[in-house]
Amino acid sequence: MKTNLTRYSILFVVLISLSSWGEKAHRKINSSCVEFFPKELQQLKVWAPILADHASDPDQLKRTDKNEFVKHFIDIDIYDDFTKKHKIVEDFNAACTKYGKAKVIKNGTLPWTTDSTYHALVHDFKTGNWDHAALTAANLGHYVGDGFMPLHITANYNGQLTSQNGIHRRYEETMIDRYIDKVQFKISKIHKVNKVQPFIFNYLYVNNSYIGLLLQADQQAYEQAGRQYKDSYYESLWGKTSLFTIKLLRESSKTLAELIYTAWIEAGRPKMPESQGKSIK
Ligand SMILES: [Zn+2]
Repeated sequence: MKTNLTRYSILFVVLISLSSWGEKAHRKINSSCVEFFPKELQQLKVWAPILADHASDPDQLKRTDKNEFVKHFIDIDIYDDFTKKHKIVEDFNAACTKYGKAKVIKNGTLPWTTDSTYHALVHDFKTGNWDHAALTAANLGHYVGDGFMPLHITANYNGQLTSQNGIHRRYEETMIDRYIDKVQFKISKIHKVNKVQPFIFNYLYVNNSYIGLLLQADQQAYEQAGRQYKDSYYESLWGKTSLFTIKLLRESSKTLAELIYTAWIEAGRPKMPESQGKSIK
């Protein structure tokens, strides 16, 4: 059995070397969210290029801030509560009391990071710090995006528990980068989120359920491609996963729009300045 340190180092290497979903997917999720904005947020549509350009900032941060690394995932199926009840303790302090703080942090803090980034956005809106709000929204989009990537919500994050090593990069980067141009989102109406923290946990619980399908698709595509990861493997993997992958990317973008909309409402619907977002590079 591997020591915790070894496991942690492997996870660190895997995640630090990847852009989680790959940069193209994060760009797509972030920039497309403005399409879902309701009339009241029309002025914020100018945020699209900022949201795209800063979609992978939190991944860059991992290189300089060692505390950043655990913010991008939650090995949610490590918790007995999840296996038994499909739910874990959602309040951070209560979770630390029940499971132990070290365990909670080691297994990833994605839901709490998403929640605190949401609150930072409310604060930016409340204080009228619009340029900063755009950057906070870009970070929020990154964490939301990670929460819609099934391999960021499981202990089997790189297929290492099912002899499918390397699936993380094969799926989220190599495959997605080949097919991202085929991804089109159907736009639908968005709603204000009632309670943000349970909402975040809920999509994590749901998205964890795609892991079985993904692992199965990887295995089948590998067999069909003559046990090699060549072009036909990626064609086959895309064929088997495109339906739910496009759904996850779209839901991710829509969820980001809903959280931005909700943050703006929670901040008291502040009036947007005319020169919105022009000074940010
Ligand atoms: Zn990430």
